[in-house]
Amino acid sequence: MTALRPAAFLDRDGTLIHDAHYLRDPALVRLLPNIAAPLARLRRAGYALVVITNQSGIARGLLTEQDYAAVRDRLDALLAEEGVTLDGSYHCPHEPARSGPCECRKPGTLLHRRAASDLALDVNRSLFIGDRFRDVAPALALGGRGILVPGVDTPSDEISRAEREATVARSLHDAVALVLDAEAS
Ligand SMILES: [Mg+2]
Ligand SMILES: [Zn+2]
Repeated sequence: MTALRPAAFLDRDGTLIHDAHYLRDPALVRLLPNIAAPLARLRRAGYALVVITNQSGIARGLLTEQDYAAVRDRLDALLAEEGVTLDGSYHCPHEPARSGPCECRKPGTLLHRRAASDLALDVNRSLFIGDRFRDVAPALALGGRGILVPGVDTPSDEISRAEREATVARSLHDAVALVLDAEAS
């Protein structure tokens, strides 16, 4: 059997791209600065890159599955221009008040578990990175390490909570350095 790979489970909006809120137009996808190099470094170090994103705009009727797919493809293309390939992208289309509770909306862990099964990932050695506490919370349930990278939309109480229960890094670059520099020493 093949050895399981660790993954970096990455939030999308506010972590990889500017959070345009219920983004449905692929022309509006903008990579955040200084993300390609740390993503490439993770991949060279053997981490699968897996986007896990809550897209409640689908349940709210603000975007369709086709809109989501077009935005995902645009993100893939922009990253490819920077030499970065994602191993997978998973999304939750639900909104609890409209579509009922689900296990896939973060902090739910269904999408991480599905990715682990699809891509032969070792969740215990994986990273859970995002700009909201719900992005890093799955590390508490699944094992692995949660690293909050605060952005413009991160509430201060979530930063405090992540300082206590997970890790906080100033940038994706710093988050990756924190992990890989420690592995190297
Ligand atoms: Mg986000
Ligand atoms: Zn869901």
